[in-house]
Amino acid sequence: MQNLISSQPRNLGKEMQIGPLGYGCWRLVAMSAADAQARIETALTAGMNLIDTADVYGLDWGGSAFGEAEALLGEVLRKAPHLRSQMILASKGGIIPGIPYDSANLIGACDASLTRLGVEQLDLYQIHRPDLLTHPAETARQLEALKSSGKVREFGISNHTPSQVEALAAHLPFALVSHQPEYSALTLAPMFNGVFDQCMANNLCVLAWSPLAGGRLADTTHLSDTLAGVMAEICERENTDLATLSLAFCLAHPSNPVAIVGSTTPARISAATQALDVSLTRQDVYDIIQASQGVALP
Ligand code: NAP
Repeated sequence: MQNLISSQPRNLGKEMQIGPLGYGCWRLVAMSAADAQARIETALTAGMNLIDTADVYGLDWGGSAFGEAEALLGEVLRKAPHLRSQMILASKGGIIPGIPYDSANLIGACDASLTRLGVEQLDLYQIHRPDLLTHPAETARQLEALKSSGKVREFGISNHTPSQVEALAAHLPFALVSHQPEYSALTLAPMFNGVFDQCMANNLCVLAWSPLAGGRLADTTHLSDTLAGVMAEICERENTDLATLSLAFCLAHPSNPVAIVGSTTPARISAATQALDVSLTRQDVYDIIQASQGVALP
């Protein structure tokens, strides 16, 4: 039976390529720059050249401030500037805790991200969540200004509905290159709500966030007996563990998602590459989907 997992690099727009696993900096807070550097280097060595962060990261996981994760990554890049050219650096803006969304000032938000990161250009800038109160023409104007000033190479969205993406795209003179939805064996929504279909129709690279559902998919106690049973059988056949199988599941969709690894444990970051050695058939993936949903597909 055909293995549905492709370990080939993914296209991010026309000029950039990223590995099937990326590294996320949401939890990369409340540690020394040396410890953060060790984790970034481990991820890069493992082929995770997409390094994904956001201005809002820092308000949890022991961090204390908006911008803290970007500032820590900036410290790493100032101490080890050679790392910049090894990564496709992605950040996000548009969430302002308390408001909660503002896409009418993405220029200011992106400028602040560049300052914290200590870089002149982001490879990818993503709108973190849709701002329901900004007209997409205004959001597009902000993105155009960031592109023409050379501060951002390409743009993506995160957590948008397909119609929100369409409305924004209608006002942009260039194509969006990525969509970052939550996706895992416990969160199947993008398969069914049109997000993956739109990505495949428009060559948007899928960046799957929380591929282990924040760690719940690494431990059977958080899973239904049915899902735990199906996954245990595949793990035994593939000689792998639940976390690795869960990453493999994310990679097995035909949109060829990138799974954004979020662990802060170096050994787990390195071990994530084992997902590329797992072989998943159509039967396996449908078994996981149906077990996760608790009902058979019609
Ligand atoms: P995840 O891989 O689903 O979860 C990582 C968590 O699982 C860590 O706390 C990790 O703990 C834990 N874990 C437990 N057992 C593990 C095992 N065996 N192997 C690996 N990890 C294990 O990813 P995530 O951190 O929730 O999200 C990943 C990235 O997605 C973020 O960094 C961010 O870039 C992005 N994201 C985006 C959005 C958005 O709205 N766009 C939202 C959330 C996240 P240890 O650290 O102790 O290993």
